[in-house]
Amino acid sequence: MYLKYLSIRGFKSFADTAKVKFSPGLTVIVGPNGSGKSNVVDALAWVLGAQGPKQLRSSKMEDVIFAGSSKRPPLGRAEVSVTFDNSDESLSVPLSEVSISRSLYRSGESSYKLNEVACRLSDLVDLLGEVGVGKSQHLIISQGEVDDIVNAKADDLRVIIEEAAGITRHKRRRDQALKR
Ligand code: ATP
Ligand code: MG
Repeated sequence: MYLKYLSIRGFKSFADTAKVKFSPGLTVIVGPNGSGKSNVVDALAWVLGAQGPKQLRSSKMEDVIFAGSSKRPPLGRAEVSVTFDNSDESLSVPLSEVSISRSLYRSGESSYKLNEVACRLSDLVDLLGEVGVGKSQHLIISQGEVDDIVNAKADDLRVIIEEAAGITRHKRRRDQALKR
């Protein structure tokens, strides 16, 4: 499984549709300060279900919608889609490509889609959680987090390692089972 395409429209600095195609392996995004490199990463975090505006470097969720520039008026809707190559069927759906989309209007109305069919956030969390893609799984490591990991105390480091190794998920399920 690998990230194949990212399509961004009306999200942060991307007023027009920006399509990014990835290949297997390492991709590096370069560009001048303020050109939108981090916004690409924010778009990926957002479409994968990020819920906290701070996680997206915004103060409120509406701020992810293109706010206008000297040349263009603000837009009313943000939409991001991501497509994963699933030819190895890492994701438990019998499809060689899996697309996830998220959109948000200024009214607060929002929606998620899985291969163009409306779905709930919890459906996506379940699907992606199986392959270690989720909001607390260190999929995205920000600059500050590198410092946090290097300076972490032993107990905190253990939490980070357990999350990365996929142990936290089993612990959560065990705790849920014990509660019943
Ligand atoms: P650096 O190299 O400094 O890290 P960067 O390429 O990562 O820069 P970003 O942080 O991705 O840059 O982009 C910052 C730009 O995005 C700023 O110019 C900011 O005004 C713009 N921006 C952020 N949110 C919005 C929005 N909602 N509408 C329009 N522009 C936005
Ligand atoms: Mg940046």
